[in-house]
Amino acid sequence: MIKAKKSQVFVIGGTHGNEFTGVYLIKKLRSQNLKKNYNKISPFFELGNEEAFRLNRRYVDHDLNRCFSKDFLLEAKKKLEEKGEGFLEHEEKLALNFDKLFKEEKADFIIDLHTTTSQMGPTLILSHKDHLSLTVAAHLKKAFPALKVICEFKELEDNYCLFTQAQAGILLEFGPVPQGVLKSELFLLMEKVVKETLSFLESAGEGEVGPYKMEELETFHVLENLDYPRDEEGNLRGMIHPDREGKDFLPIKDGEPLFICFDGETIPWKGPTVWPIFMNEAAYYEKSVAMVLTSKQKGF
Ligand SMILES: [Zn+2]
Repeated sequence: MIKAKKSQVFVIGGTHGNEFTGVYLIKKLRSQNLKKNYNKISPFFELGNEEAFRLNRRYVDHDLNRCFSKDFLLEAKKKLEEKGEGFLEHEEKLALNFDKLFKEEKADFIIDLHTTTSQMGPTLILSHKDHLSLTVAAHLKKAFPALKVICEFKELEDNYCLFTQAQAGILLEFGPVPQGVLKSELFLLMEKVVKETLSFLESAGEGEVGPYKMEELETFHVLENLDYPRDEEGNLRGMIHPDREGKDFLPIKDGEPLFICFDGETIPWKGPTVWPIFMNEAAYYEKSVAMVLTSKQKGF
């Protein structure tokens, strides 16, 4: 009998250096010598950006989770060939290394661990619409009902995130966790979710995947990003309104307060009911994103 190839599963923490949960969870999982517990999958536990972690920064030169578009990798490869490794910026080097690693090991599934300063609770982000990723999401939602599932299919067009570099994968985004800080409750929950995912991937090969009513699953679909109010020069003119602060995944209706300006003006939401997430994420101020608007739906 031909032995089936083990499924190569990468768990990656610290893709953003100041998100400590993923970093310390990878260190913990590495110390547990987990590989021996699995026969059908071969798990790898990798740190995303150790230098950024050492500096307690999200990244050194580029946001590593935006470095995997075809164009970015091609440019980096060209620079490496024409000028040499010394000319590569830090995350260009990392992106090329991960690209090589995922290809050499034929990565089947990537679990990328993140935290947010937004009050999003435990959240799972999907990019792929492949059967395995959807089944994993459905299973985890069943095992952890508090888990919110976000479908972010727009990302597929650019494919620039780390976890989209295998044919299947999920990104875990837990909050609120301040940058450079550990919160034990969310850390321990993330550990459970990672181990449940590994067990599920291990058992998926044995036909133990039950029928999941995916069409009934509550999901949030990304519509667009919304910036803060700004003046003509691009300076911040206000912040999230106190009535809205911390209400990720809750609906906002036309006319409800959204921002409060430094001059006291309240700016209401104008438009159809939407479900904002990533509200007041610290790392998104530089990206001009005050929140990400989603719609609440059933199914993927
Ligand atoms: Zn992150």
